[in-house]
Amino acid sequence: MKAARLYGPRDLRIEEVPVPEVAGDQVLVQMHSVGICGTDLLVYRGDLPVRPGTILGHECAGVVAATGPDVQRHRVGDRVFVEAGWGCGSCVYCRRGLILHCTHKASLGRTVDGAFAEYVAVPERVVHPIAENVPFDDAQSASTIGSAIRALGHIRPTVGDSAAVVGSGHAGLILMQLLRLSGLQWVAMVGTREKRLELARELGADLVVDARSDNPVEKVLEATEGLGVDLVGEAAATDSSLDLSMQIAAFGGTVLAFGIYEQAVKGFRAPDLYRKEIRLVGSKGGFGAYEATSQLLGRGILRIRPLISHYFPLDELAEGFRMMDEKAQDALRIVVRPCQ
Ligand SMILES: [Zn+2]
Ligand SMILES: [Zn+2]
Repeated sequence: MKAARLYGPRDLRIEEVPVPEVAGDQVLVQMHSVGICGTDLLVYRGDLPVRPGTILGHECAGVVAATGPDVQRHRVGDRVFVEAGWGCGSCVYCRRGLILHCTHKASLGRTVDGAFAEYVAVPERVVHPIAENVPFDDAQSASTIGSAIRALGHIRPTVGDSAAVVGSGHAGLILMQLLRLSGLQWVAMVGTREKRLELARELGADLVVDARSDNPVEKVLEATEGLGVDLVGEAAATDSSLDLSMQIAAFGGTVLAFGIYEQAVKGFRAPDLYRKEIRLVGSKGGFGAYEATSQLLGRGILRIRPLISHYFPLDELAEGFRMMDEKAQDALRIVVRPCQ
């Protein structure tokens, strides 16, 4: 089969490799749609090191092509999406149900070969069904949807509250839609690219604010009668985006750290945290939220395909990474279709 292996920073090669053999509780999934996410980009750049020759990719959907002898729940032909990682099942964190913190966690496309390939072998417990009506291109966003559902579970938004999402990328636009579905009465989107802000408006944002404009904080405060928003979903993970989030949060409000932070944040507004009694909540991954993700996808109420800016065959994956790496203006969610 064809697969995309990384040999060093930005050294991605499409190679012929053997189709993985399934053993025990593993299923072989034929890849139909795989998204490039922010974590993939960090791996591609060498910021998250992997063993040379690792097949990248973890946000994916496809069809079960083979099953190991111990597989119970899945059959060949099932349409599925795959979780991005799994726990060892026996360490202290796994025993407490905190699989995210597993000391021997397997991460697809990082510690084990991933999804930018024609086939991937994974344990059946991380494979979830998708309904007949759900396009694979919607289901490839399942990791992000699951992460957003889990994050909202941490902060439990109240119907009627106001919210803002800072960061109008793929994750931010999904989080915004879920906040709407959670009954928030007013949701603003703060971002830096015009096209994405236009899209945010189409997807239901009440106010869009260009973070590069004169005074984005003032614009949000003005629209909320000076109070700020009850809930800020920070989905850009930069110094300035967290700074802005702290400033637009209301007194007693919540800031959800949903972006992928890899470095310490400079200029953190600790006085706001204290003075405004802001609740700052971190959330990573979607463990435990994938049943809900499967159902939500089946209902067809999330709009995923408008977020997809480019489709590439596997052979042209490097071009997709290059666009992400260089922050190509029109790139949003880039999807690769290895078997379509
Ligand atoms: Zn990801
Ligand atoms: Zn474990």
